[in-house]
Amino acid sequence: MPLLSEWRNWSGHQSALPCRLEQPGDPESLHEAVAEARRLRVVGAGHSFTPLVPTDGTLINLDCMAGVHEVDVRARTAWVGGGSRLRDLSPAFHEQGLAFNNLGDIDAQSLAGAVATATHGTGRNLPCLAADITGVRLLTAAGEDLTITQEEDSDRLRAAQVSLGALGVIHGLRVALRPSFRLHRRTWAEPLGSIIADAAARWERHRNFEFFYIPFSGWGMCIAHDETAAAPTERAPSTDDEDLMKAKRLRDLTRWCTPLRRAILSRVVRGVTPEDVVGDSWRLLASERNVRFNEMEYHLPPENALDALREVIEVVERERRDVFFPIEVRQTAGDDAWLSPFNGGRRISIAMHTHAPDEDEWLFRRVEPIFRRAGGRPHWGKLHSLGAPELAELYPNFERFLTLRRELDPNNKLVNAHTARLWGEPHHD
Ligand SMILES: Cc1cc2nc3c(=O)[nH]c(=O)nc-3n(C[C@H](O)[C@H](O)[C@H](O)COP(=O)(O)OP(=O)(O)OC[C@H]3O[C@@H](n4cnc5c(N)ncnc54)[C@H](O)[C@@H]3O)c2cc1C
Repeated sequence: MPLLSEWRNWSGHQSALPCRLEQPGDPESLHEAVAEARRLRVVGAGHSFTPLVPTDGTLINLDCMAGVHEVDVRARTAWVGGGSRLRDLSPAFHEQGLAFNNLGDIDAQSLAGAVATATHGTGRNLPCLAADITGVRLLTAAGEDLTITQEEDSDRLRAAQVSLGALGVIHGLRVALRPSFRLHRRTWAEPLGSIIADAAARWERHRNFEFFYIPFSGWGMCIAHDETAAAPTERAPSTDDEDLMKAKRLRDLTRWCTPLRRAILSRVVRGVTPEDVVGDSWRLLASERNVRFNEMEYHLPPENALDALREVIEVVERERRDVFFPIEVRQTAGDDAWLSPFNGGRRISIAMHTHAPDEDEWLFRRVEPIFRRAGGRPHWGKLHSLGAPELAELYPNFERFLTLRRELDPNNKLVNAHTARLWGEPHHD
């Protein structure tokens, strides 16, 4: 489908005018599109906040190469097409009695896009989605079709698991699954002090635990999921969007008086109806996000993370009375993908959502240094300012990845302005 039209990401902050948009429906058309492109990037669902996707060359989207191709119920694995969306895969796996081990906040992403940036959920013993990828089918910029599996080339697989579209177009993925399961979901409000004091124990106790701090309230909302054999219960429609807008209105009304805002907001948070429901894992883990935002998220060594959180909250509440989006705190198990932010051990992730136009610049200036001092690695799909020199210090296998990248894409066909900075390559538009 060659055409000239503007592309925008989910938040609307990244845009591009690619010279061609290609949506191949089969491997032959994909080969042709890659061969004809002078420069190219791949887009999944366009849910990354960083400019990973923009290109003035060819933009390839694999929505027409989606679906479950092979399922091995005994081995609990499935090969799926490169354009498959998480929200379509979960019900298809469920029909076979299988499920993803974990999911993030939403499931609108493509599996290829989600693993490319090390998308994660929460759970002390649950790694990011990329760790469950045991094979990929990758078409390189030079037109070579590679099947890379855990059994045959575990090194290359560890490079391909989190590869930001830099090694080629991934048109097939093999994912390790588990038997379908139900979760008992509970949410509740609690003062921040007691959440932080007990957070480590809760991450140990619950399969999935996370919390959202509501700025200027002193309170947070906790979410815990635990496996259960109990029957599913009815779930009330989500009020997340209304609650968020309530926090925004309250900010507008009480901006001139922080103590008043804190008093009212803490009462409002305490009044949020707790959830106590049972359902299929994939129905409860992922939610809808309708209010648009931008986001920065850093993954921090657990020993530094909660101190960094306190520091961030202190800076926000001292300097930015306009902030109203909750700050999200999760934990993810370690893995060994070369560019996984969780490579080498578990990390606690702190996510800041921004709404005002000048908030991003403020985040880079005031919050990112706190995350960096605490030893954090940025989420590849969320706002950060790091380039090759800083990344080389954070990732023990960074140089190995760059060597493989140069081998598979010697002419930098897959490099755009943003990834040129990440890989330390020149880029000429
Ligand atoms: C509302 C919202 C909620 C989110 N929640 C979470 C969360 O809970 N946890 C979390 O970790 N992240 C979260 N994210 C971030 C998101 O999961 C990542 O940015 C993810 O990469 C987006 O997937 P996508 O399909 O949109 O990929 P895109 O943003 O389209 O692409 C991401 C990268 O993958 C590459 N890519 C895509 N498809 C292919 C392919 N077939 N072959 C090769 N490369 C490919 C692209 O080139 C790009 O480099 C959230 C984002 C939003 C907007």
